[in-house]
Parts: sequence; structure tokens; C-alpha cells
Amino acid sequence: MMEIEQLLANNRFWSESLRARDPDFFARLARQQRPEFLWIGCSDSRVPANEVVGLMPGELFVHRNVANMVVATDMNFLSVLQYAVDVLRVRQIIVCGHYGCGGVRAALGHEELGLIDNWLRALKALYHQNLERFSGLAPEAQVNLLCELNVQRQVRNVCHTTIVQNAWKRGQPLVVHGWIYGLQDGLVKDLGATIEAPAQLDGSFLYE
Ligand code: ZN
Repeated sequence: MMEIEQLLANNRFWSESLRARDPDFFARLARQQRPEFLWIGCSDSRVPANEVVGLMPGELFVHRNVANMVVATDMNFLSVLQYAVDVLRVRQIIVCGHYGCGGVRAALGHEELGLIDNWLRALKALYHQNLERFSGLAPEAQVNLLCELNVQRQVRNVCHTTIVQNAWKRGQPLVVHGWIYGLQDGLVKDLGATIEAPAQLDGSFLYE
């Protein structure tokens, strides 16, 4: 097992290597962050946001939770979204799920795990709304289908917020993408769920 001291040693090495390549790197970042992207991903340790898309510190604003959920009453998420859109003025939002997601798998099962069951309940509803698409699928294929449907749903949930809709109203360019990451090969797939204008949403979700 790795000792905790090793992490601090790793950190010193990382900082020194970056400064060796670019002596002003941290001083520049400390003055201002100007990321163009907001990443909404799963907390899973195997999906480290910056690494999988090759971005440096300062280039990706990140929100992660179990199963990359976008919950309209989640003050933490809403604060991240509002700051990213209104203050940092990110131009692209990426909802990135991943195949084999433990949260999604838990929602498909019936074991009581605790508080997390409440967090994941919207996934049970999503499964229930799409029951016919799951019939005949092997268990792992069911997990992966729900992972994809979840990303598509969360892209819409991002767009249903007044934060995103107000950005569009004031003419701020903002595109929301739905991606999924493969734990097996480290590759990201675009699910073609991109939304960049209110016309792509159901009218019932629009604010005037
Ligand atoms: Zn996950």
C-alpha cells in the first residue's frame, strides 16, 4: 500500500517538473484562471477529468459526484455551474459519464447501500421510463445502456437550468456535450447529445 508521505513526495516532484519546463507556470495561474470548459463527471477514481482530455491546471473547471448527476436542488452543483457560466464564462460544458459506472450499477440493483440510494433514485426512474429498451440485454449491457441514457438526461438537465438559459438569452455562446468514457480503453465517445440552443429543448422546460 502507498504511504501518505509518498503523495507529498509525488507532489514536490510534479511541481518541480512543471516549473523546470515553465518557471512562471504557477505564478501565472495564481493570478487568474481562465478555463474554457466545465467538466461534469463521476467521482470514480478511474476517470480523472484533466488527464483523460489532456488538459493542464487552469484549463478545466470540474464538478464531480457519484454517477455524474445534475440535480436541480443540488446547491453545490448549481454554484459550480453559475460560477462557471456567469463569472468564468466557459464556452463548453461536458457531461462525461463512463461505462461500468458503480452508481448506475447500484441503481439497477436492489441492495440497500445507504444514503447513496437516495442520490441515485433518479437513475431508477430513468430505467423505469425506458424499460422496453432493456429487455433481452445482458446485465452488463443494461448497465452500459443506463450509463448512456443518464448522460443524455443530464445534458438536458444542465440546459433546463435558468443559469444556462439566461446565458443563451444574453447571447453568450454555450454548448453542452454528452460524452462517455470507456474504462477498458481510456477512450471518450461523443454520444451526439449536444445542445447549443433553447430550440433543441422541449418547450415545457423553457423560461421566458
Ligand atoms: Zn461512475
